[in-house]
Amino acid sequence: MKTLLLRTAAAALLLGALSCSERSPLYKDPSAPVEKRVDDLLRRMTLEEKVGQMNQYTGLEHIRKTEARHNAGRNLAKSDSYTFYKDFPADTLEAWTARGWVGSFLHVYTLEEANHLQELALSSRLGIPIIFGIDAVHGNAFCPDNTIYPTAIGMASSFDPALVEEIGRQTALEMRSMGMHWTFGPGVDISRDPRWGRCGETFGEDPYLVGEMGAAAVRGLQGELGLTGVVTTIKHLVGGGQSVNGSNAAPTDISDQTLEEVFLPPYKKGIDAGALALMPAHNDIAGIPCHAHKELIEGRMRRDWGFKGIVVSDWMDVERLETGHRYAESRKDAFAKSIEAGLDLHMHGPGWQQDVCELVREGRVSERRIDLSVRRILELKFRLGLFEQPFADPARSFETRLCPQHRETALRAARESVVLLKNEDGILPLDPGRYRRVLVTGINADSHNIDGDWSAIPRPENVTTILEGLREVSPQTEFVYSDQGLRPRDMKPEYIEDAARKARGCDLCIVVAGDFMNRDLGGLTGGENHDRADISLPGLQQELFARVAAAGKPVVLVLVSGRPLGVEAENAASKAVLNAWEPGMYGGQAVAEILYGKVNPSGKLAMTMPRNSYQTVLSYNHKPMHFFHPYIDQACSPLYPFGFGLSYTRFSYSDLRLSRSEMGISDSLEASVTVRNEGSVAGDEIAQLYVRDRVASRTRADKELKGFARVHLEPGESRTIQFTVGPEALAFYSGRGRMEVEPGEFEVLTGGSSDNAALLSASFTIK
Ligand code: BGC
Repeated sequence: MKTLLLRTAAAALLLGALSCSERSPLYKDPSAPVEKRVDDLLRRMTLEEKVGQMNQYTGLEHIRKTEARHNAGRNLAKSDSYTFYKDFPADTLEAWTARGWVGSFLHVYTLEEANHLQELALSSRLGIPIIFGIDAVHGNAFCPDNTIYPTAIGMASSFDPALVEEIGRQTALEMRSMGMHWTFGPGVDISRDPRWGRCGETFGEDPYLVGEMGAAAVRGLQGELGLTGVVTTIKHLVGGGQSVNGSNAAPTDISDQTLEEVFLPPYKKGIDAGALALMPAHNDIAGIPCHAHKELIEGRMRRDWGFKGIVVSDWMDVERLETGHRYAESRKDAFAKSIEAGLDLHMHGPGWQQDVCELVREGRVSERRIDLSVRRILELKFRLGLFEQPFADPARSFETRLCPQHRETALRAARESVVLLKNEDGILPLDPGRYRRVLVTGINADSHNIDGDWSAIPRPENVTTILEGLREVSPQTEFVYSDQGLRPRDMKPEYIEDAARKARGCDLCIVVAGDFMNRDLGGLTGGENHDRADISLPGLQQELFARVAAAGKPVVLVLVSGRPLGVEAENAASKAVLNAWEPGMYGGQAVAEILYGKVNPSGKLAMTMPRNSYQTVLSYNHKPMHFFHPYIDQACSPLYPFGFGLSYTRFSYSDLRLSRSEMGISDSLEASVTVRNEGSVAGDEIAQLYVRDRVASRTRADKELKGFARVHLEPGESRTIQFTVGPEALAFYSGRGRMEVEPGEFEVLTGGSSDNAALLSASFTIK
């Protein structure tokens, strides 16, 4: 507290110094309208200060850590996620910050560092505070000691936008308590290819679900900004989830129809929800790199959809216009092209300062254009209250971080996100009386990796591993553990031998398999920049599974990964399969509670699970001719379809009714359906509504999700759910180049999965 008071006093002194030359400048007056404060500040700024506001740097500790790695002889040439700036050491960065040439930092992991940098910025001539950005994409998990919720793919599988909104609010509070103001999320990418390592960062494959979840996250995280909200960034515009080869940043070649119907709609919802930042994608889209795509950014996002926030580049992607895409002649040319396309803030590095000042002096970029971006950035800083409260209070931060209420939400989220895929002979919930000795093995069995990508290595007390969860939830069971190491690459034949031997002495075996995503340790098989050509279990996991299964005891397979895995053989040989995705700090407890029936599973797949690597692009909303001629060598159907998930009870659907059978193109109708819990335990069902356009002037998706509802039902209870079906649900990218509704016959389908066999159907006509 003392430090904080001293800091505040220092800031006041500096303010005073400025006031000597001019008594209380308008921009320092919290009662003045933001617009006036921005005008006042902008007119006082030099070109260097303005250009500095448009730039971001990685945090000092991040840089120093990388410098140390570099000095220790590690070759970082091919590493994309570590920074240090050649010929620009951390000390120089501090000096620039104090000079007022730095507007923003990212990847500052501690409150102390944030306060230190803020203090430097406030000591500059105009004392403009720093805006700190970080990838707080499932809680502020990149910083130690914050609540870690499931990653986006798990949250999407909860089909619970209200919960996503609540998590957003909590995350924002934890961030603000650490002096951080801006998250690079929510991701509203559509992921259509499980080879892509970033599926876990997405809300899955369906544009409606992604849009609803993205908008909920924006509302929760941002609120009204002030001192409790954080700026959100909808990203990555656009198409990275369907690159030509499933690899991050690879080119995309997506038709206008697919862009407009599938990839872009979540951006519209994010903008409508008020998102204040937007990040272009690494990739190009049909020949134009997204970071230089004026029509996409200035045209579609700003002009057509009214986006008012800032456009931030992704990690070194502007530079890659030159070095990657070969779209710019030099770094300076790349900066000019991205500014021209609509960029406001550059992530990250010192080259920007000199090049952009030169571009202005040479007349290639006008100072008016610079002012436009700086104005947007300053407005955010004012709206965040940074001029009034720049520092975080170390004494109070833990009133918020990891507080009981946030932990409770993380647990609830984990419980809702896990998807039960198979339960042969009702082996689950496990009967502790029958299965007394249980083998637990696999790389993810006793691992903090359940926290998922974009999280720091947690203190052991801040994560409940699956093994720990099992021991807590079923104390009467003897759990026999066979350690396989943390990462696929750590596995050894002798570990597998150990598991096979122990399996023979047990009544049941739980194999916790999947990917390794925790970026701090290396050896990753999933997560950003860890795409795979083969989506089966990596390392020796298939062998481990086969050897354990050979013991002849029932096997329960638990999957931990952000991507759908190709586990056809393991699925067939398991009695039960649970897809836990990346369930966060309470994932172990949630999985154990589900296995032992303390919690009834309710998640549904937000992404289709293919059988194997040959079925990579298999989203449910494909067109009708997708498999007109089926493969001759394997089934065309997925292992489990989008929207699928089992419960310990059974739900029935009946009485699908439409409020009208005919309507005009701008009308809406109500569809209602009754869902009943037919079993003997309470449970949550996720009712889904799809629409099918029978005939159209362009080929359409076989069906598209247009509504869902999570309902809790006691045994024997039924509920009638109402959905509205209107122009937004029926419009498509027509041959006339815009979204419109065409007359004709439509079908409404409802049920508990996208599988046609699970859906009731009713028709109506648009006249
Ligand atoms: C990712 C972004 C992220 C940024 C900053 C990039 O590599 O693509 O999603 O926000 O790094 O961490």
